[in-house]
Amino acid sequence: MQAQEHTGSYYAATVNEVTDFAPLRGAQTADVCVVGAGFTGISTALHLAERGYNVHVVEAHRVGWGATGRNGGQMIGGIAGERCIAKHHGRGVEELFSELRWEGHNIIRQRVSKYGIDCDLKPGYVDVAIKPRHVRDMQAEHNALVEAEFPYEVRMLSREETRELTGTDSYIGGLLNMGNGHLHPLNLCLGEAGAAVSLGTTIYEQSPVTEIRRGDKAVVVTEHGTVTADAVVLAGNAYHHIEPKLRGIMFPVNSFIVATEPLPDEVVQAINPRDLAICDPNFVLEYFRLSADKRLLFGARLNYFGDDPEFIMKQHRRKIVKHYPALADVGFDYAWGGTIGVPINRVPLLGRVAPNVFYSQGYSGHGVNVTHLAGQIMADAVAGTFERFDLFADVKPVVVPGGHLFSKPMVALGVLYYKIKDRL
Ligand SMILES: Cc1cc2nc3c(=O)[nH]c(=O)nc-3n(C[C@H](O)[C@H](O)[C@H](O)COP(=O)(O)OP(=O)(O)OC[C@H]3O[C@@H](n4cnc5c(N)ncnc54)[C@H](O)[C@@H]3O)c2cc1C
Repeated sequence: MQAQEHTGSYYAATVNEVTDFAPLRGAQTADVCVVGAGFTGISTALHLAERGYNVHVVEAHRVGWGATGRNGGQMIGGIAGERCIAKHHGRGVEELFSELRWEGHNIIRQRVSKYGIDCDLKPGYVDVAIKPRHVRDMQAEHNALVEAEFPYEVRMLSREETRELTGTDSYIGGLLNMGNGHLHPLNLCLGEAGAAVSLGTTIYEQSPVTEIRRGDKAVVVTEHGTVTADAVVLAGNAYHHIEPKLRGIMFPVNSFIVATEPLPDEVVQAINPRDLAICDPNFVLEYFRLSADKRLLFGARLNYFGDDPEFIMKQHRRKIVKHYPALADVGFDYAWGGTIGVPINRVPLLGRVAPNVFYSQGYSGHGVNVTHLAGQIMADAVAGTFERFDLFADVKPVVVPGGHLFSKPMVALGVLYYKIKDRL
């Protein structure tokens, strides 16, 4: 694996600071070594550092280089695969889940406030409905939140209200949830990394890990150095390829985003007057919002495995114009893609490959929230508390033997299947 710089995203172009942590060299020791500096790795490191652990984080490229620095920035509640987890554990876990679903949001808000992280965090999100069954699902979600005395505004939207808030006639209704929101994910991750460093964490960039040696103390190996630690947390998610036991349990699904040029005020008022994150409920979904400088950030899946910005812009322009014909000639300044880890049963993959080598990955499209919860759960597990860890780890992943070898055709087939399902 060759160390790389950030992709050409809007986020990388608007970072609060450019990181330049030295690569790992020589023989180092730590209480805990984390592999991967996305939300999972950095969140875990910060939780551990706050508890007094000496943590070293080893990143192949740059802090936030993976899905974390490329995503839609939509802070969405809930955990993918909840039904499967509830089925496995029985009804007792539902109450626990009503807290866990929003725990990541609480952690993000607390950190933004505690460490003064400037990441454009804003409240407000609309689930938009395309079909009557979506409205029924949203009504059920709304009722459950009201019953649970959710402390933020949640409101079903009529077709007209949805049109007013989204500036398009594409949707037949929606669910407004002011407990969700949106943010600049790379600046959040960099802020959290800075907080971890201020508490004594060491971060190495441009340091691809090539091997994890097992033992009472595990050894994380790169070309020029090692970290020997009591515990290791693998946080490479869809970009992780070195641990054989993690192969074939998750599909790498690509999603792509464009950022338009900054939009004039009258366009902003017409398409998103309350500055909300917007997402449709399809499996092969579209998600969009405004950036802090009023660009439309529009994301969708494409059946494409490359990273050519011109290609992404062309495809996404068609999708945007369906909702916003007035944006037919809008300029695009950035286009990029990233890879999401999607477990086959959608249940986030938390577990161990050895007694002291943990992993956490595969949050489907809910990673902004769930990585922050996962970081807390990983820190608990390292400290010897497994109650919440076991909720996930006890649900055995569905394994596709050889899946990693055929991931592209299998993902293409899977997406086709879900596209057909979305149309029904
Ligand atoms: C285009 C896109 C849009 C998305 N939109 C949303 C959204 O709006 N809302 C939402 O909640 N979620 C969204 N997601 C999902 C979310 O971004 C991810 O779930 C989350 O960022 C995962 O974080 P992570 O730290 O687990 O993985 P990553 O951010 O991918 O980080 C893994 C890191 O591990 C490093 N690594 C891997 N292997 C090694 C190695 N051998 N040695 C050293 N380092 C290694 C990688 O370089 C990488 O930096 C989106 C994802 C994508 C790609």
